[in-house]
Amino acid sequence: MAKLLDKIKKAELVGKGGACFPTFSKWQAVKNAKADKKYIVCNCSEGEPDVKKDGYILEHFPEKLIDGINLAVKEIKADKAYIFINEAYYKKYSTKLLGLIVDTKIELFKKPHVGGYIAGEESSLINAIEGSRIEPNRKPPYPSDSGLWGAPTLINNVETFYDVSLINSDAYNKNRFYTVAGDCVWPGVYEFSNDQTIGDILVESKNYPKFDFFVQVGGGASGEVLNSNQLDREVGGSGSITVYSIEKHKPIDVIRNWLNFFMNESCGQCTPCREGTYRLHEIINQNKPNWHMFFAILEDLPETSFCALGISVPVPIISYFKNVLKDNQEFSSIFVENNI
Ligand code: SF4
Repeated sequence: MAKLLDKIKKAELVGKGGACFPTFSKWQAVKNAKADKKYIVCNCSEGEPDVKKDGYILEHFPEKLIDGINLAVKEIKADKAYIFINEAYYKKYSTKLLGLIVDTKIELFKKPHVGGYIAGEESSLINAIEGSRIEPNRKPPYPSDSGLWGAPTLINNVETFYDVSLINSDAYNKNRFYTVAGDCVWPGVYEFSNDQTIGDILVESKNYPKFDFFVQVGGGASGEVLNSNQLDREVGGSGSITVYSIEKHKPIDVIRNWLNFFMNESCGQCTPCREGTYRLHEIINQNKPNWHMFFAILEDLPETSFCALGISVPVPIISYFKNVLKDNQEFSSIFVENNI
């Protein structure tokens, strides 16, 4: 009978929190690390708008999640495993989870209220559990070498542990969960194959719009924006598809919403992200936005930000301009003048 790690490798499982890192490599690194103590963290902080799949697994398959974590505890000989869970999910699912983790090495850890979205970043999450200031640390070292209290730590998303449980019982068929949200008839969480295209997911979930639309995929704030002719791609990231009716949403409002998220969730540790998101938000709220300044800040953010939050800010905005607004008369000149 094949060993679990071999099965995970063969299944080509990748993380489902957004980074898509190969699960086998992470597990192998922590397993091979020489240390007196090792830890596991199941990341259930899910805080990006329109991403709901972790909550869906907690609702429908908590036993499989706990099974996956217990398998990891056994495989890497961990001293303890934490489920790092956001407040809303804690409120809803902690009673059920506490019943399932009796006599295991698993403990629930409620994400601190002040943690915000950034507490879900791996190194911030470690700081949160250790009781330190909740902000990302420079990597390396990676958590697999030096995580919780300096010990090798395996951090995976809820869906990854769920998948491991399926892999162990030979029930994994390379499916994943997708959150479909926004201007659609049947918003919700759907299960389709890993490589299903965005268009097929919308059709098969009966959510393909009958109006002009664009989508944001992979993350509800950090995801790329695509027009309706670009749907022959996989979703990636944390598996979300948000549908936007072109008629219903004014471009400035759409951009302002993303910037609200980034500005409010910036942990403030580094100046480019803290100041940059604030200034972008300020510019977009002007009567006559200074687009030259706006795009100059956007260009600088990926080069100067410390973590993925600051680096991601231009992703939705630039792709929105390139894939959707270039045909919009009001914005086409901005597009040309700023060489987007
Ligand atoms: S990029 Fe933003 S969220 Fe990330 S460390 Fe800097 S201030 Fe914090």
